Amino acid sequence: MRIRVDRSRCRGAGQCALTAPALFDQSEEDGTVVVLNDEPPPGLAAAARRAAALCPNSVIRIVEDTEHSQC
Ligand code: SF4
Repeated sequence: MRIRVDRSRCRGAGQCALTAPALFDQSEEDGTVVVLNDEPPPGLAAAARRAAALCPNSVIRIVEDTEHSQC
């Protein structure tokens, strides 16, 4: 799993940092999202998906690893 974000769309409300503080923080300059770990371990996968689902601007995209990534 990988986490991708489009910071240009981020409103800086911080829902992601509240939902998954091990994965997301907010910039001290403008409050936009900062990804702390863009390849979360399996134990944080559910938190990453929850943060993506709760983001009001659909900023966070989860890219799932595929078994046949060489294709
Ligand atoms: S929840 Fe979405 S809009 Fe809010 S700070 Fe996080 S990425 Fe930005």
